[in-house]
Amino acid sequence: MKVYNTLTRRKEDFVSLRPGAVGFYICGPTVYNDIHIGNARTFLSFDVIRRYLEYRGYEVTYVQNITDVDDKIINRANEEGRDSSEVAEQYTEAFIAVMDALGVKEPSVRPRATAEIASMIELIEGLIQSGNAYEVEGDVYFSVRSFPSYGALSGRNVDDLKSGARVDVDERKRDPLDFALWKAAKPGEPSWPSPWGLGRPGWHIECSAMSKRYLGTAFDIHAGGDDLVFPHHENELAQSACSSKDGFASYWLHGGMLTIDKEKMSKSEGNFLLLKDVLEHVRPEALRLLMLQTHYRSPFDYSPERLEEATASLERIESALRNSNWALAQHAGAGEHAKATASLAPSSSVADARKRFEAYMDDDFNTAGAVAVVFELVSEANRLLAEYSQKSETFSESFADLEVIAQTVVELLMVLGVKLEIGADCTELVATDALPALLSLAAELAHYSGSKAAEALDALLSAREEARVNKDWTRADAVRDGLAKLGLKIEDTPHGSRIIHA
Ligand code: AMP
Ligand code: ZN
Repeated sequence: MKVYNTLTRRKEDFVSLRPGAVGFYICGPTVYNDIHIGNARTFLSFDVIRRYLEYRGYEVTYVQNITDVDDKIINRANEEGRDSSEVAEQYTEAFIAVMDALGVKEPSVRPRATAEIASMIELIEGLIQSGNAYEVEGDVYFSVRSFPSYGALSGRNVDDLKSGARVDVDERKRDPLDFALWKAAKPGEPSWPSPWGLGRPGWHIECSAMSKRYLGTAFDIHAGGDDLVFPHHENELAQSACSSKDGFASYWLHGGMLTIDKEKMSKSEGNFLLLKDVLEHVRPEALRLLMLQTHYRSPFDYSPERLEEATASLERIESALRNSNWALAQHAGAGEHAKATASLAPSSSVADARKRFEAYMDDDFNTAGAVAVVFELVSEANRLLAEYSQKSETFSESFADLEVIAQTVVELLMVLGVKLEIGADCTELVATDALPALLSLAAELAHYSGSKAAEALDALLSAREEARVNKDWTRADAVRDGLAKLGLKIEDTPHGSRIIHA
């Protein structure tokens, strides 16, 4: 497996520190408001990478922090006249709920910064002792010049950084590039006791402390959006590397930004869509399928049209599988055919699909290629199904392919976290709000008095069959028209009739 490492700027073979296990740290949200779909893209990309590592047999310890102490949270709390812990709690809960709705797996550990202050203080004390940090009037700063490789991750040179830096008014810093590890308490801000008096941590130190606590000083993967490379990850790396000689993250993975009209989606620009709002109208699987069609490191330009297309693709996949399952069930029912084809092997292009999928994913998690393999399988299923409805006798050999396709598509999409809704019966053909209309149609035309969608559809099919046999065209047409109003139609095939989406 090859992964692109921001630190070395190339794809490298992935070798975990402990065989069969991966320590994975991903920077979590600052909980001062609801996340937008840009944030969601980053969390979704790494959810898929985690899932794939697990599929490959690694036991992944996935740590995602919650930044619940920060200027933005404090500002918001002050604006609303609330306590900052209350604001943080509200948006932590909202974040967890929306990640769950998106199908992002729970992290193994989800530490909150405010519960980890002791480990941060310990780390800062060590950095002061080793001469990498200094205290000034209750603040503690990291001395950037004390770490010769500062800038290596983001490819920046300290002298360039310095000349580019704004004139720093804070004269207490020895160097304008130095950054805060600890900030002395200001009135109205949350604070904790420390060897330097009351105060709160700077942003970067929390990730160094939490990754060390939950994954050890050296671990495998550190991830986040590429806007975090500088200064956040550069500073984390400096702090951690100066705290321990054991190394830090082996691989730095960064996700590309979600843009809208080619501009980065961000709260400050105001060009954002909240994930929770988008999920009110769109299935989470469609958003996932859409995002996975772009490589995680590339920028991804969002548009509602693209999301609509992805929804249509998702429905096409589901309908192909539903139709395949239906054809396979018919085939199983025709015992003779089934016996004759039981020993047939699937064709090689179908049997190799999984290998091609894995080859893409092994190449720095190329989900776009992996999804394309799934789409190819779906096209093949549709081609076979079209053949199936044309000729019933000579089709037998293709059942082996159809069967493998139906299983493989579901499994491979599951690896990517896309859970399909195929349904064992045809209940899913009918939207919940259309159920009463379906039941009254079945009551009127098929004397059905139950409450189950699948039974009602069956009853309507039988009623239409009966009407046709009796040449009662008015009734047969009434069934057809009634179903059309529900977005459904009857398809007649050489193997019998069934109801599908119109
Ligand atoms: P924040 O809460 O701002 O620290 O952001 C949480 C995560 O979302 C970080 O990993 C960011 O890199 C990521 N992020 C922020 N904006 C975007 C965007 N437009 N596209 C993709 N990821 C983003
Ligand atoms: Zn972080």
